[in-house]
Amino acid sequence: MVTQSHVILNIALLSKREKPFLHFYAFIGAVLPDLPMFIFFAVETFILRTPQRELWGSRYFMEAWQTFFDLFNAIPLILIVLGIGYYLLNSERIVVFAWSMLLHCGFDFLTHHDDGHHHFFPLSDFVFESPISYWDRDHYAGIVAPIERLVMLAASIYLFRRLKTRIARWALVIINVLFLGSYLLFFLR
Ligand SMILES: [Zn+2]
Repeated sequence: MVTQSHVILNIALLSKREKPFLHFYAFIGAVLPDLPMFIFFAVETFILRTPQRELWGSRYFMEAWQTFFDLFNAIPLILIVLGIGYYLLNSERIVVFAWSMLLHCGFDFLTHHDDGHHHFFPLSDFVFESPISYWDRDHYAGIVAPIERLVMLAASIYLFRRLKTRIARWALVIINVLFLGSYLLFFLR
């Protein structure tokens, strides 16, 4: 799934009515698994000046980059963080953060066809090949993508009232307008 959907869906799922401060930790956990991808894009594009075609065609699949991505999408490592947060530190913030990362990995597990991560890094290099994809039209993205947007919209409506600050509410509205708007534009064309 795209990062925006992860963020909104995870915050909505992990939100607790009287604890809006937890939203921040759900946010970080939702973004972190995709962060290495943004770093990859920035380094390759702006520093190494790799042409876009090469970027996704070959550089993306280099072992070093793949390992870097895997580090942030590794269920065993996230479980260690969850265990430390729950048993050692008794920290609700870390527990929410780790759960948000797990949710991200769980949704990605189901929506990546041939571009999934090594879910159980470093224990195994198994990669699940889901029959559906959130972007690849050869694997039902034509159905999956609109569903993803609808789920995101529903999660946003649910979440809106739980956001306490005006800036958070505006951010939620803007993300939806940009994301759904660009999709509809693309779709209508
Ligand atoms: Zn992801």
